[in-house]
Amino acid sequence: MSEALLLRGAEAVLTGLPGAAAHAGAADIRIRDGRIAHIGPNLLAQEGERVLDASGCVVYPGWVNTHHHLFQSLLKAVPEGLDQPLMGWLAAVPFRFQDRFDPELLETAATIGLAELLLSGTTTCADHHYLYFAAGDDTLGDLLFDVAERFGMRFVLCRGGATDTEQFTDYPNRIRPQTVERYAADVERLTARFHQRGPDAMRQVVMAPSTPLFSATAQGLRELAAHARRLGIRMHSHLSETADYVRHARETHGMKPVEYCAEHDWLGPDVWYAHLVHVDEAEIALLTETGTGIAHCPASNCRLGSGVAPVPKMAAAGMPVSLGVDGAASSEAADMISEARLAWLVHRAVGGAQATTVEDVVHWGTRGGARLLGLDAVGTLEVGMAADLAVYELSHPRYFGQFQPALAPVLGGGAPVMRYVLVGGRVVVENGVIPWLDMEALRVRAAEGVARLMRELA
Ligand SMILES: [Zn+2]
Repeated sequence: MSEALLLRGAEAVLTGLPGAAAHAGAADIRIRDGRIAHIGPNLLAQEGERVLDASGCVVYPGWVNTHHHLFQSLLKAVPEGLDQPLMGWLAAVPFRFQDRFDPELLETAATIGLAELLLSGTTTCADHHYLYFAAGDDTLGDLLFDVAERFGMRFVLCRGGATDTEQFTDYPNRIRPQTVERYAADVERLTARFHQRGPDAMRQVVMAPSTPLFSATAQGLRELAAHARRLGIRMHSHLSETADYVRHARETHGMKPVEYCAEHDWLGPDVWYAHLVHVDEAEIALLTETGTGIAHCPASNCRLGSGVAPVPKMAAAGMPVSLGVDGAASSEAADMISEARLAWLVHRAVGGAQATTVEDVVHWGTRGGARLLGLDAVGTLEVGMAADLAVYELSHPRYFGQFQPALAPVLGGGAPVMRYVLVGGRVVVENGVIPWLDMEALRVRAAEGVARLMRELA
């Protein structure tokens, strides 16, 4: 049972709704049973209510990160991959290290990644976890749910991996893919054990082979889609991250990647893709028609030199848009404030000063993400919605001199100063601190983890 709370004195509240409805002005927020009970000016404290002081702060809905690879939080700036495009980077970093993770390393990496996210005001994380191999232990990723629970965050395990790797020229020979039967059975096991179905579910499972064109055969892809829909879970993958990917689809299958997904039952309102950097107008129309969404990951796309996804066009067409930080191995600042700020900037560089607004970007990163995950009671600050809140303190000089404090956390960028973070009405960050987490001990564990991974390769 969560406390009765009154968040009082915020300078500004951004609702996560698009357009003019984004601004709720200076307001207090009353919370009951994990939901928002009232939003309005000058609410009086009621008996038994704990008052949280939000003076000097602005309040956003908690961010919903729809694409991550938490294991990569121990693989930042690997030298051989730092100046590589996608394929060279995959060979130099994930492919090299992905079967070296044991429970201890994965737990350390996930703790780093989720701490970073939570301290940027992120309250939901979908992790595309793909450390599943023929010779591996399918239950390794289960511990991610435990780590997320420690943080009190909503967590979505997108069960990755491959059932076929023939198309990947640089894929290491020592790693063999799993059979479709084993993959499907494990997704069923995970769903039975962890998947919750409510509009504010804390735990979900998603069918998520690493990428449709390289991780499964045509038949396997159809079977996995049918299996996901039988189980009533969502589907996720990487798609059209680079121009080479599109070329490969044309040469191998004589069609565009989004067409290939349509042919193999991988489009729909229950599907979202990371990247979609290289898609044309016809593909955007097909994605929009089918309600298929995007996890826009601009930092990783910039870092790997992949390009810039045409997200303003997608949003204008009515396609569901969300934001993802992607793994820290290709996006070393894996926090939602950095991602949102870059999303705001990069489309302006490409499309002019009216290409994005802060309100749009906040909507994509909050309600946009919750919508794609089917979390219908998450992602906006409105009465009746889950009390997932990021309370930003504007006490750093980068926020001083602001005409519009509501926009300061995104425009100011950098590491935010968190007064509070709440998930489902539970206070999980207080005065910038995750109370149970020993940050110095985590720093030491991280350094030991990196040393171990380096030794393994020596
Ligand atoms: Zn990714």
